[in-house]
Amino acid sequence: MILHVDMDAFYAAVEQRDRPELRGRPVVVGGMGGRGVVAAASYEARAFGVRSALPTAEARRLCPQAVFLAPRPERYREVSRRIREVLASFSPIVEPVSIDEAFLDLAGTERLYGPPPAAGRLLKERIFAAVGLTASVGIAPNRFLAKAASDFAKPDGLTVIAPGEEAAFLAVLPLEKAPGVGPRMRERLARFGVRFLGELARIPEGELVALLGAAGQRLAALARGIDPTPVTPPSPPRSLGSECTLDRDTRDRDLLARLLLAHAEAVAAELRAADAAARTVVLKIRLADFSLKTRRRTWAAAASSSRELYRRALALLEGFPLGQPVRLIGLAAAGLVAAGLPRQPPLFGEQGRRSAEWERVDRAMASIQERFGDGAVGRASLREPRKTPAPGPRGGGRRPGRG
Ligand SMILES: [Mg+2]
Repeated sequence: MILHVDMDAFYAAVEQRDRPELRGRPVVVGGMGGRGVVAAASYEARAFGVRSALPTAEARRLCPQAVFLAPRPERYREVSRRIREVLASFSPIVEPVSIDEAFLDLAGTERLYGPPPAAGRLLKERIFAAVGLTASVGIAPNRFLAKAASDFAKPDGLTVIAPGEEAAFLAVLPLEKAPGVGPRMRERLARFGVRFLGELARIPEGELVALLGAAGQRLAALARGIDPTPVTPPSPPRSLGSECTLDRDTRDRDLLARLLLAHAEAVAAELRAADAAARTVVLKIRLADFSLKTRRRTWAAAASSSRELYRRALALLEGFPLGQPVRLIGLAAAGLVAAGLPRQPPLFGEQGRRSAEWERVDRAMASIQERFGDGAVGRASLREPRKTPAPGPRGGGRRPGRG
């Protein structure tokens, strides 16, 4: 059996959780500019017809009393990470499909959690206990039906389609719930008197293919409750990096070190987004004569905090001879592993704890930057050194362009 879990009105629910005064009120999260669109609407706002992807201006017209908020992606990612930890502890086979949705393969979990309805209830409870948010869960013999099932009774729903019940569910499932069925295809099929997906099973597959092309084949299978797509945990990207060309070529090691710290922060942020950690750090330097030099080293323990990436990159920079001035400097992380997998413990427990603390610092900085802008907070050593103490709070830290 496959389980699909989908958080209810995720961004809006996170805002209502973080700000209790918003609970029970219509909340719309979306782009605030002239062409902004709704990213999420609380169920109170949905009662007024506000839906995601609707222009924000239209949402204001439909529900002027709603609280309109700009999205806080870093905050949502943080909550999403916490939910993924719950999912990872629930089943070894988890495939996240978006920030608030995932498929889980329940194979072999019955002994632990009991039959599917009990497993679904338990997962919903664990998610609520961890993040204080409700999720809708669908469990079915395949992926497509599991997703349709989670959508069936939102919010806070639990729908289980047992083997043998597929046809009954498909008989009442509107056509447009199938992927790839838009208004035009729905209209074409309506001419044949077809409104529900199950009704397509009566039409021979050849006729559907003649009518709809390749999409017909897929629909014919879905209408019969067939979807062999397995739940596939993602593999992390092979590498990611950050680099910048300097305004003026330099041999100044302090300046190069400060730039590496900025790159380490950027790469750490990308690693967090990819839920990955890196065993290999690559220092990339282009010299004044345009020759490109790289130094790479692989460590036994994977790193994901900016501090640890910086420390490793700095070690590579120290061994790099600066015979010529540097034109470009970059840092890349390679040998990526999933951050959720057990990492090799560091040699010293203290070092591991400090690395985890720095990961928390990185996350805190990212949410402050998101709320108040990039200049709001930065590492002290990124600021230009001054000879006299600054008279007051300083402006933004230097951030290099991204490569
Ligand atoms: Mg959702």
